Amino acid sequence: MRLAIAFAVALWVGTSANAQPAKPHHDRAMVDAANPLAVEAGLKILRAGGSAIDAAVAVQAALGLVEPQSSGLGGGAFLTYYDAHTHKVTAYDGRETAPASATPTRFFNADGKPLSFSEAVLSGRSAGVPGAVAMLALAQKAHGRLAWSGLFGDGERLAREGFIVSPRLGGLIGAGFAQAKAPDVLAYFTNPGGDRMKAGDRLVNRAYAATLRRIAAEGPNALLKGSIAADIVARLSQDPLPGGMTLADLAAYQPHAAEALCRSYRQWIVCEPNAPSGGPATLEGLGLLARTDIAKRGPNDPIAWFELAQAQRLMYADDLKYVGDPAAVTVPIAGLLDGPYLDARAKLIGDQAGPPPAPGQPVGAPKVGPDATREPGGTSSFVIVDQWGDVASMTTTVEGPFGDGRMVDGFLLNNQLTDFSFQPIDKDGAPAANAVGPGKRPRSSMSPTIILDANHRFVAAVGSPGGMAIPAYVLKSIVGVLDWKLSMQEAVNLPNLIAIGAYYAGEADKFSPGVLRGLADRGIVVRSGLGAEGSGLHGIIRRDDGRLDGGADPRREGVARGCC
Ligand code: GLU
Repeated sequence: MRLAIAFAVALWVGTSANAQPAKPHHDRAMVDAANPLAVEAGLKILRAGGSAIDAAVAVQAALGLVEPQSSGLGGGAFLTYYDAHTHKVTAYDGRETAPASATPTRFFNADGKPLSFSEAVLSGRSAGVPGAVAMLALAQKAHGRLAWSGLFGDGERLAREGFIVSPRLGGLIGAGFAQAKAPDVLAYFTNPGGDRMKAGDRLVNRAYAATLRRIAAEGPNALLKGSIAADIVARLSQDPLPGGMTLADLAAYQPHAAEALCRSYRQWIVCEPNAPSGGPATLEGLGLLARTDIAKRGPNDPIAWFELAQAQRLMYADDLKYVGDPAAVTVPIAGLLDGPYLDARAKLIGDQAGPPPAPGQPVGAPKVGPDATREPGGTSSFVIVDQWGDVASMTTTVEGPFGDGRMVDGFLLNNQLTDFSFQPIDKDGAPAANAVGPGKRPRSSMSPTIILDANHRFVAAVGSPGGMAIPAYVLKSIVGVLDWKLSMQEAVNLPNLIAIGAYYAGEADKFSPGVLRGLADRGIVVRSGLGAEGSGLHGIIRRDDGRLDGGADPRREGVARGCC
């Protein structure tokens, strides 16, 4: 006995003396999204051998149920997708489209004046043809490893068995904004006993489960053709202000796929969807920052934040003037991202903020009028890396919280068309780039980003909700993680600062007094309470040792979890 122990000990000592130091185990895959139930749905697909796009479908199916204030089957999305085999980034556009009958005065009342924003949102005119599911189907066909029909199991089960309402959803159910009080929303969030649902209650949605089963079996045609399409048309033709969407509008919907719009930022390559997304704005912002010394500074340096604010003001001035649907208007993308243009524009960063910067004159600029677009916050953004190294970065939205407040077959319809400019022309008659038009897609701020190294290997992906503030949130995170070498979580946690014209919204209580003083000395007084808290950043960076480092915005309810 004793001999046996001695032998075993010798064997063990011998083994350990010769052993190589154990290699740290890294998760090869990760899902980083706004709700843990959706993250679990994605992980289950990855564990079953699914790719990032397969998991994205499962995440969206769950998010549409558990985070209905933000995104869903009735909404639209942009997706950038990195294929680790080809090293190519493809951008998918699932933006909602205006019906064929839409005219530039869609958001005018009978007296020829723009509708109030909430009137427009609740009207039948705010919903565009939903594109998120059709876009996912197109991308899944190209990059999926599993059968489409097998990707909806968790979403369907959660809807059938019920899920627990999260604190954020519970808060919005009880909030006072227009959609939260819309009849369909009130009915959906009322318990059988008659009281308003709150966090901790179980919510069952059998209609959503049935819709998912149909989408699983029939693909996006389940939404765009047949009885669900007829339900959408019927709901949007009801008062107030019917919207004129037809079955033909739904049947005609086409998601787009194109090579992503990529530009260099120092030694990296940053890829975005093209217009009408917020990708061009984010790339212009980065182009301006690349011409500053921000990388040598850090989060406690007021000049770093000044540079970030000034780059944003210049970027937003251009975005608001020039960006619209490139299928309908001329958008001078090449001019806006051209080196000499950015050189000249970066000189305007200066050392004092001064009055709001005017839009520039990039090569190819059309004569377009000023813009009157408003974008409040809804939306969700998630990032997935699979075990082969493919990456999905997707920002997905019903526009405002609970979309237009109208529900069919268990899901909410979007109010994305209020992302168009309510004023179609300026006083001299020049059309706004983002005016409403038939079949047109409204301008977005969504910027689901993928960053590569010079050899086109994946480095990082990040995205956020937040309406017009999205490019600001994304820029902050990219500077934090790439330039300042923060962890993804630290970069996401950095205080938010949004600078548009003379509007400086920020999380003032998160900046040090020194940073606030330094900014004020340069003409920027940061004010809290203007909506700067609305980010929902999710990002993943692959570290040099291969480790996936994820960050989920503490301002929302998301998590980053690895697997596989
Ligand atoms: N509708 C906005 C857009 O497409 C997103 C709204 C939000 O992020 O809350 O850019």
